[in-house]
Amino acid sequence: MTRTVYVNGDYLPETEAKVSIFDRGFLMADGVYEVTSVLDGKLLDFAGHAKRLGRSLAELDMANPINTDDLLAVHRELVARNNIVDGLIYLQITRGNPGDRDFAFPDPAQTPSTIVLFTQSKPGLADNPMAKTGMRVISIDDIRWGRRDIKTVQLLYPSMGKMMAKKAGVDDAWLVEDGFVTEGTSNNAYIVTGGKIITRQLSSDILHGITRNAVLRFAAEAQMEVIERPFTVEEAKAADEAFVTSASAFVMPVVELDGVALGSGKPGPVATRLREIYLEESRKAAI
Ligand code: PMP
Repeated sequence: MTRTVYVNGDYLPETEAKVSIFDRGFLMADGVYEVTSVLDGKLLDFAGHAKRLGRSLAELDMANPINTDDLLAVHRELVARNNIVDGLIYLQITRGNPGDRDFAFPDPAQTPSTIVLFTQSKPGLADNPMAKTGMRVISIDDIRWGRRDIKTVQLLYPSMGKMMAKKAGVDDAWLVEDGFVTEGTSNNAYIVTGGKIITRQLSSDILHGITRNAVLRFAAEAQMEVIERPFTVEEAKAADEAFVTSASAFVMPVVELDGVALGSGKPGPVATRLREIYLEESRKAAI
């Protein structure tokens, strides 16, 4: 089926959507993105994604081509036009097409930002069978740049990390810097030890996950203890359980790290409960 996508104000069939070869997103990875989940035709935590988008743009001095109300309208229009029940909305904004290649940022008055959105239909997104079996991960060096709090489209190393995981016959990789886990290739990482949930504190070392924010709030409301600090690979291997969070995987148990079974080697009770709470509360609050 041909999707309807959104490019710079127009709704077009995907085959007719075009961006210049001089676009700085293409030439320089000079762009930011967001991924918002859709369940039952409704958007999960749109406000959180819109807020982080604004922050990413501001940190890069990039002009925002759309206000939040209009952005919400575009998301909803794409859900409707593409009959999305469960799935994802991908949004990307780049510094636009200055008509040539140059390292210096173009004047935003001359070069408007490029904005693109498209949908990905994922029927049964919340019923991912992996939630029952758990994920297996390996640890790899975190050699990304130092501003991981900005959600840029520079995803080459995370892609390489996913390929390293694939080659190792597992599902994903956790990134390690100075002996401590930063996060997963496309998710935030957690361990559970003695009933306490441990996850790295927010800084420029990690992406400030929208799902992380919600899950930590729900954990606190459920009287679960959360400690925000870095943890090592050795600590993780000795943990009772582990999990990751992201907008598309929600809360996903991790059952193996570098070939070592974590806890019982099955999805743990904390991850399982948090997944239930997250899905229930997010569905209720979806718009
Ligand atoms: N960390 C990284 C590196 C990511 O790419 C993502 C997903 N985009 C996350 C964490 C999770 O963020 P969110 O919960 O907002 O999807």
